[in-house]
Amino acid sequence: MTTHLVLNPATAQPVTEVRLTTLDEADAAIERAHDAFPAWRAVAPGERAMLLRHFATVVDDHIEELAELEVRNAGHTWGNARWEAGNVRDCLNYYSAAPERMFGRQIPVAGGVDLTFHEPLGVVGVIVPWNFPMPIAGWGFAPALAAGNCVVLKPAELTPLTAIRLGELALEAGLPEGVLTVLPGKGSVVGERFVTHPLVRKVCFTGSTEVGKKIMAGCADQVKRVTLELGGKSANVVFADADLKAAAATAPYAVFDNAGQDCCARSRILVERTAYDEFLSLLEPAVIGLRVLDPTDEASEMGPLISAQQRASVLGYLDDAKVAFAGSAPGGDGFWVPPTVVLSDDPAERVWREEVFGPVVAVMPFDDEADAVALANDTEYGLSGSIYTRDLGRGLRVARAVEAGNLSVNSHSSVRYWTPFGGYKQSGLGRELGPDAPNAFTEEKNVFIAH
Ligand code: NAD
Repeated sequence: MTTHLVLNPATAQPVTEVRLTTLDEADAAIERAHDAFPAWRAVAPGERAMLLRHFATVVDDHIEELAELEVRNAGHTWGNARWEAGNVRDCLNYYSAAPERMFGRQIPVAGGVDLTFHEPLGVVGVIVPWNFPMPIAGWGFAPALAAGNCVVLKPAELTPLTAIRLGELALEAGLPEGVLTVLPGKGSVVGERFVTHPLVRKVCFTGSTEVGKKIMAGCADQVKRVTLELGGKSANVVFADADLKAAAATAPYAVFDNAGQDCCARSRILVERTAYDEFLSLLEPAVIGLRVLDPTDEASEMGPLISAQQRASVLGYLDDAKVAFAGSAPGGDGFWVPPTVVLSDDPAERVWREEVFGPVVAVMPFDDEADAVALANDTEYGLSGSIYTRDLGRGLRVARAVEAGNLSVNSHSSVRYWTPFGGYKQSGLGRELGPDAPNAFTEEKNVFIAH
């Protein structure tokens, strides 16, 4: 197969056909990126900064166009899609400050002067999943480019359209040819080539834990640098002293945003037993009230799943689950699943343990703080989580005790480009975003000069 037929997930109708990059074409693109590297790393810091800011401006000029592509290609709501395109702009602006601030250190030593430098790696391969095609691409390419690397980027087969457009906009903004190359293609062809090609010096992978493990094993062969952002099964821990109304009103957005296809989805809700019934009675109207509509409708708060396969996989979790209540979803040929709340009383249940990656949340009661922490940590994942309580001491204590990379107290936010993002345990390796991200795309070099 040399092309991929892109479907609109809300209607299952074809959008366009995209040609898939072959192995030879991937090799040629990696070599072109390698050839472009010496000139790109030599661009003066202020000039590289300016080019990234210009790229950000060009993206900003195309927010509506990029958002519209994502509404059609990924079934994202207009609100999400505009935020996602804006996030690419914001990341570029944020990391445009980095080239002029790639500071090394001068370290006191005997007999001379010691200096450290952050040297770019060369060609970096960024592999992107289908759930947040624009932001995840930007979290990779913006800091990597800022640090002086060239980037080859592979979008997911299902969602290549915005990445292709971003590649064109980079050229329009004046980035030299070969500095950012978008290669739509198969994971088993283009993605694997990033892992095996010796000129690719780092792989920045976001996707499933299963594929992430293969990438890590493949990278070991060349001791290739790797960042992994993988799956999650995050807990939303609600204590009885919390503002229950607020906690219940926001809980649906913490798991049903992007139809639950979010690595940070709080897909397990743990509720202190004394507040369990009241919380569920408050959660029900919040879930029923969620506006699950065709994403072309500006009022839509939740769209369809990405594919028929994803829909079947999500529905499979409901076969043996105890459904408490569910919201609505449009009919038709699109890949719709209504937001669904299930009750769990055994942490061994599949729906409690596995990443559903759809609009399904499992609720379970707990007895005390220690029980809550033990249940929250009883998972191979550790990406994010929330704690709802009016006792901020407890909020901080539980946030410190939960083994996950991104915790929020009385909030569900996980990803801010100003702060580090990444997972504990099998949710990942390394961190993206935040002030240190460009350093993750460099080698720290130490130079000693004798007196
Ligand atoms: P996936 O692992 O199937 O695919 C991710 C990307 O890897 C795609 O571009 C795919 O083409 C590519 N790929 C597949 N096989 C490959 C191989 N053998 N070698 C190289 N590349 C290969 O994941 P998905 O289904 O697209 O995305 C959903 C998953 O991503 C979920 O598990 C979700 O939790 C995870 N995710 C994690 C984060 C995070 O930051 N932690 C963010 C978003 C998504």
